Amino acid sequence: MDLGIRGRRALICASSKGLGKGCAEALAGEGVDLVLNARGAEALEATAGSIRSTYGVSVVVVPADVTTEGGQAAVLEAAGDVDILVTNAGGPPPGMWSDWDRDDFIAAFDANLLTPIALIKALLPGMMDRGWGRIVNITSIAVKAPIPVLGLSNTARSGLTGYVAGVSRQVAGSGVTINNLLPGLHDTNRLVMLDKVDAGARGISEDDARQARMQTVPAGRFGTSEEFGAACAWLCSDKAGFVIGQNILLDGGAFPGAL
Ligand code: NAP
Repeated sequence: MDLGIRGRRALICASSKGLGKGCAEALAGEGVDLVLNARGAEALEATAGSIRSTYGVSVVVVPADVTTEGGQAAVLEAAGDVDILVTNAGGPPPGMWSDWDRDDFIAAFDANLLTPIALIKALLPGMMDRGWGRIVNITSIAVKAPIPVLGLSNTARSGLTGYVAGVSRQVAGSGVTINNLLPGLHDTNRLVMLDKVDAGARGISEDDARQARMQTVPAGRFGTSEEFGAACAWLCSDKAGFVIGQNILLDGGAFPGAL
């Protein structure tokens, strides 16, 4: 299926690795020109180079921490009049309720709530004026099924979910859609980090922690960045213009609810 977005431009935040990179590759595969961002310049350049040579699209890189005001200004300047925005940033660290104080919440809110809101607010007017836009936020299964050790993530991402529910409907008539993609367990560095913490806390090997985590997924495996990217590209497509304010779960069946 031709997704109808060849020649569009996309800003994809936090996209040198993992799920953001999966979204970048899938959009590039549809002929979308890209602005990519991450803090580490080396991996970012490597991802950009590989995407340019594989897909022949234009790729601009912005090495910056997107959770800072300066980083947001830099990605927005490079983005210009983009048609597609994919928001993403690293997730907050795991812990116990008693570990988290005000500064920890502020950091999580900055990364996973206020950064996407700032980028949405900056790019929405142009998309609305042009009568077409796609915004996808990478959030988490945690907004449907909160994960106890990820309380900072649960809290920040739930806030973004509420924001998107309202704003997406306020702008729905302008040709701009805003939706959230909710990853369950995907095989990325984030999972390796969580397995390391889990293994340390439980006194087991990282491999045992990984296998135990995998057994929680009815599909019997972790998701891939490619699968995640394909869902993102479809949500960003011309075909998905009637999908407004949704929270789409990609979790191999892990969430046990019927809806
Ligand atoms: P990942 O494999 O660790 O990749 C994270 C990417 O984001 C890297 O390119 C990283 O590059 C970049 N990044 C991190 N912090 C950044 C910042 N402040 N500014 C700019 N770039 C930044 O992680 P992932 O699995 O793709 O996770 C993406 C998001 O999905 C995270 O918020 C994570 O919590 C969430 N999530 C993941 C899973 C999962 O199973 N993987 C499940 C639920 C939710 P640099 O380090 O060089 O900046």
